[in-house]
Amino acid sequence: MSLQERDKKHLWHPLTQHKLHPEAIPIARAKGVLLYDEHDKSYIDGIASWYTAMYGHCHADIIAAVYKQMQQLDQVVFSGFTHEPAIDLSEALIAILPDNQQKLFFSDNGSTATEIGIKMALQYHHNLGNDRKVMIAFENGFHGDTFGAMSASGLSVYNGAFEDFFIDMKRIPVPDGKNNADVVALLKEYIASGTIAGFIYEPLVQGAAAMQMHDTVGLSEILKICAENKVITIADEVMTGFGKTGTYFASDQVSIKPDIMCLSKALTAGMLPMAITSCSLQVYNAFYDDSITKGLFHGHTYTANPLACAAALAGIKLLKSVEIQEGIQRIITAHRKFEKYIKQHSKVATTRQLGVIFALDLNIKMERYGNLRDQLFTFFMQNGVFLRPLGNTIYILPPYIITQEQLDKVYSVIEEALEMI
Ligand SMILES: *Cc1c(COP(=O)(O)O)cnc(C)c1O
Repeated sequence: MSLQERDKKHLWHPLTQHKLHPEAIPIARAKGVLLYDEHDKSYIDGIASWYTAMYGHCHADIIAAVYKQMQQLDQVVFSGFTHEPAIDLSEALIAILPDNQQKLFFSDNGSTATEIGIKMALQYHHNLGNDRKVMIAFENGFHGDTFGAMSASGLSVYNGAFEDFFIDMKRIPVPDGKNNADVVALLKEYIASGTIAGFIYEPLVQGAAAMQMHDTVGLSEILKICAENKVITIADEVMTGFGKTGTYFASDQVSIKPDIMCLSKALTAGMLPMAITSCSLQVYNAFYDDSITKGLFHGHTYTANPLACAAALAGIKLLKSVEIQEGIQRIITAHRKFEKYIKQHSKVATTRQLGVIFALDLNIKMERYGNLRDQLFTFFMQNGVFLRPLGNTIYILPPYIITQEQLDKVYSVIEEALEMI
């Protein structure tokens, strides 16, 4: 039996309607920018496997760090115990996070990172005796698939079965520079109710909403009003973190810093699952009390797994290296050049770019999305490039080590796809 047939027997894949998409493509190995299938055909990983393997797949430094750690300490309970990999990581991460971030809480994935951020915001007010139980989020945001995260996510076509169980969430549009005053007015109206505990947002780029980008000044205005009204702000940097927007974190480009930040995906360089929710001392201090019930009683079995910590620490060293920082700048320059050229194309409606993220919207009517998405995906794969179009958007978010030649191949395959549709 082929791998595909064996896969179909027992496996249930994420975000997949198996009746419509029965076949999964077996991937046998990965190295650097390339994925290889079972016949050893290679594919440029144009989205770094959902923005995780940003320094390239199976990076020697990450492998060495994890291998070394796995011979020393594999796993230990993180309640009541601690270990050097977590401590080393905390120091390295705090050194690159915005200055106000002082405490780190570990979990396993992006959804739990945002779930914990939301719980921190709600319990912060609960501990202070404030009756604030409502959250604010952007329209079309995505924060993950657990209940709190789903509640905050605005892309709800898939969440119909669960909506009755969601936490109370008010929505504001993203600021686009023209609507800033209206967004601020709506925010103030919600805050005036006295019930708003926190605001959760993807800073500058909304990933799952097809890399939609918004106005930095508008976001600063929102965060300023939140700060003035003790609304806890939660920057979900699960996608944007670790260099993708051109700075270590998207929040580095915004003048007002969030109270809480959510990190995952590239945190462990694509090697192991782990997440971190960081926060300010102001948040932490609301939990620090003689009363045990004011603590944050949240925990996962694999919290701060030493192997994942070792991978993350090695990842941060790479992020700060000259080679990676030069790679980021090189991709930014290449994207800008490609953007200038491709936006003239008659099949391109709009383009946008921030850091190593580039997206273009096709000039195509809504009804054709579903079918077209599959056609584009197949075309890209046939041509040795893995891209995953969203709706009518094609986007690139490549590993920082992609070569100019590989980037040019991605660009030309996209251009050929435009001729095909
Ligand atoms: C991917 C993502 C999540 C969810 O992370 P998982 O690890 O898939 O649970 C949350 N927020 C953002 C912005 C993401 O991109």
